[in-house]
Parts: sequence; structure tokens; C-alpha cells
Amino acid sequence: MFRPVPPQTTRVREVPIRRTTNLDLYRVVDHLDAAVAELREMGRRVSDSLGRNRVWMVSSTVTGGGVAESMPRACSLLTDLGVDTRWLVLEPGDPSFFTLTKSLHNMLHGVPGTQDLEAARSVYERVSAEAAAEMRQVDARDILVIHDPQPAGIALHLRRPEPGRLAWRCHVGIPERNEHTNAAWSFLRPYLGVYDRLLFTLMAYVPDEWLDRSGELCPGIDPFSHKNRPLRPYKLLGILRSAGLIPGPSVPRWARFRAKVQRWIGKWDESPLPSLLYCPTILQVSRFDRLKGFESLLPAFELLTRTAPELAASLPANADRVKSEIERAHLVLAGPDPSGVADDPEAEEVLDDLCRRHDRLPSHLKERVHVMRLPMVDVKENALIVNALQRVAAVVVQNSIREGFGLTVSEALWKRAPVAASNVGGLARQIRHGSDGVLIDDPRSPESIAAALLELIASPMQGEAMARSGRERVSTHFTVLSEIKSWLLAFSRLLEGADPAPSPDG
Ligand code: UDP
Repeated sequence: MFRPVPPQTTRVREVPIRRTTNLDLYRVVDHLDAAVAELREMGRRVSDSLGRNRVWMVSSTVTGGGVAESMPRACSLLTDLGVDTRWLVLEPGDPSFFTLTKSLHNMLHGVPGTQDLEAARSVYERVSAEAAAEMRQVDARDILVIHDPQPAGIALHLRRPEPGRLAWRCHVGIPERNEHTNAAWSFLRPYLGVYDRLLFTLMAYVPDEWLDRSGELCPGIDPFSHKNRPLRPYKLLGILRSAGLIPGPSVPRWARFRAKVQRWIGKWDESPLPSLLYCPTILQVSRFDRLKGFESLLPAFELLTRTAPELAASLPANADRVKSEIERAHLVLAGPDPSGVADDPEAEEVLDDLCRRHDRLPSHLKERVHVMRLPMVDVKENALIVNALQRVAAVVVQNSIREGFGLTVSEALWKRAPVAASNVGGLARQIRHGSDGVLIDDPRSPESIAAALLELIASPMQGEAMARSGRERVSTHFTVLSEIKSWLLAFSRLLEGADPAPSPDG
């Protein structure tokens, strides 16, 4: 099993971009040809202004999570448009760095961190300075986009870049302020001052003091990635088979996966789960992070199954059918194997906690609730497994307590899956309650979650109609084409000099 070994000294490594997509492909999808033509024109203008210079994106992990997910395709599509865009990844020399930045991440989401940020500032400073010294390939006239709090401190230590060349892209945040967000923002204050532009997922996340130089930039999904590409039944079954999730004839050598999905049954196990094909599955697939709200899904599922007969009787729908669907339903809680996500030291603990909760379930539920860790040894295989799981699910749920954007929702809607998501941050931006899916009022309340799940299970036609509308919405607002347009607008704005008006970039 691949385990990232932290290097002894801080490194900044360039990740080669494997070109998995190209712009012409999008012309045939959902009438996106006009959008492609517009991007080509915008790309030409940015490329003319940049001349021989480049764009560098800097983030803190190669795999796991939304940032890692969007980086290769953003870099490859921008390069297609003539804007040479490269990806650098920070590998801190000190393992305590990610413990500190995980606290910072949690606090930006308004919940306590485990670290005293000020006491750990020296670690952050040292790693940031070491990383800046490593970035010799970046020219003062290149555009540098630093992603998230982990590498945010690097910019302060760079040789002074030209004006209009530095942007910070923040993927986290909440609209509310409390003592934790205040402490996190004041920790970051000295580092953010040097950026020309700050790009947030939603304007609502921008702290007042940074409004004048901030803009909005939503991520988007790539319809042609392994995560989202269409899978014909033959292919879908082959993937589930290769991942060890369903039984079937042996897989040809070329189609074998390097590792199988593991399921917690009191120990990690690789045996198949035929119910995936024959029973309604409620799926959440996310990083194992407390803020993803996995733990409340267990009591919610227990409540849903326990009260199935009375719930069904109270509905206008065919009560027998609803009752039977709930009684046959399975809950799958899946996420990346924590050993493959470098910048998330808490994932192991969150997964352990879920396993303990699974151990305590009554036996009839244990057989219907499945905690899975998805192998990360091969990014493509991992993406295909997520794709297949989202496609077989009867309902996809994203029960985040906090969520900057939540790509998993757009991914599921793109596949026309009925989606229930908590009414927070970027999830509420993607889903209009009752039109594109169902919003869960309170992700910590089993009642609230169970009610949302019931709504989708009880009215499949309505769920399908919402999923159809959701797909339209994703196609218009949340594909990689919209994201690339926002990037090009952001670059133009940087190159033209900062605009003091707080307006969206996308
Ligand atoms: N993801 C993945 N493999 C997994 C679990 C999740 O590739 O085993 C992906 C998921 O499909 C999505 C991303 O990780 O593309 C998570 O992004 P999101 O914006 O939902 O949340 P984040 O992890 O950035 O907080």
C-alpha cells in the first residue's frame, strides 16, 4: 500500500499534468460550443498579455479532495487555451505543519482546532520560507495562484513579484463569523496582505477586511474525466467487479485494478457486496473529515428503517412500495483510504470513529451499513470507483456540516442521481430545494436527514425530475468550462491591475 513519506526538508514539487481532456470534446456536450468559442477568445487575450510567462498553481496534496481533483484539468485546459499553466505541490519538511493547517482549516469553518495557532506560527513561517526558497522556477512576471491556507504563507517570502501577479484561491469558508473564524483569519492576515487578488468560492465567505480585493470563483466538474464520464452497463459492472465490489466472471488482465475496495466488518474485508446491484443504495462519498457529517448518517438511517412502516403509511405514495424500499435500503459511507491523502492527518481518526460506530450497530443494521475505504494507489481507478458508486446509488447524500463548495453534489447531479444535501455553503448554491434536489435543514439532526432521504425514496419520479433539473443547472453553472472562464477573468483582472470594486470574477 502506498504511504506518502514526509520528506525531511520542505520541497515544492512540480506535478506533471497528464492531458486527460481537450476543449473540442466539450463542443458536443449539451450545446457547450458557444462557451468553448468564448473561452478560446478570452484565452487568446490572456495569453497575449502574459507573453512568454506562465501561470503556476500551488496546492498541498496531489490526491484526495476537491482541490487535487480540479487541478489537472484546470491546468490542462488553460494550457490548451494558450495559457501555459503548471501545478506545484508543497511537501512540508515538518510533519506537524499539516496538523497545524488542519486546525486552521477547521477553524475557518467555524469549529475548534486542536492547535494553538499562535504557538505553532513558527512552524508555518519556517515551512513557508523554505518553500518560497524552493520555487526558483517561478519568474517574477509569472502569475502565481496559491490555493488554500496551507501554502498561503509562501507569497510573503518570495522575491518581490511584479504587481498584479499574485492571487490566493480560498476553497474553504463559511458566511458566519465566530471566535474560531476570527482567530484563523487573524492568523492568516500577515500573509494575505501581499496578494493582489483573493478568490473565494462564494462572496459570502469573504471577511470584510478583504472585500475590496476579492472575487468569486466556483469550481466545476469535468464531464469527460474518469470521475464523470458516461459508463455503459458493461463498463460499470466491469469497474465494480475490478474493485471487488460485486461478484462475477474473472476480469481480463488489462482491466484489473491495482487494489480493491475494503469494507469494515469488524476488520477490513475485500468480499463483494451484491446488494449494490439489487437494493436501493444511499451513498455518501467524501473525504473522511468530521465536517462531512458522516456520523449523523448512521442514526438517521437507523431512524429511517425503524420508522419505515409508519412513515410509509403517512405518505400519499404507495405505502407498501415505500416500506419495502426502505426495508431493503443500504447505506454506503465511502471515502479515500486515509493513507493516500497527504494533507489530512485527521482522516484516519474519523474513519476509525466511524468503524467503532459501525461495531456498535445492531446486527440487522450492520449488514446494511457499509463503511468503505477506496484505494488511492491509482487515481484513475479511484475516480472510476467513485463514478460507478454514484451511478448505482438510488440516492446520493452529502450531509456536510460545513462545505465550501462540495464537488460531490455536482458530480452526482451530472449523473442524474437524486441528491439530498445539507443546507450549507456551496451545497445550497448548487441545489435549489425542491427543484434540483432536497436540502437537509440540519445535518446534525437524524430526523432532518431521514425526512430528506424519505422524500427521495418515496417519490422516485419527483427525485428523477429534480435530478434532471440538477443536471441542467450543473451544465450551465458548474462545469469546468464555467470554472475556466472564471480563471481567465481573474487573470485578465490581475494583469490589468486590481479593480477596487468587490465584484464576482465569474
Ligand atoms: N473523492 C475521490 N475519491 C474518494 C472520495 C472522494 O476522488 O475516494 C473526490 C470526490 O469525488 C470529489 C472530491 O474528492 O471530487 C471532494 O471534493 P469536494 O468539493 O466534495 O470536497 P473537499 O474534499 O474538497 O472538501
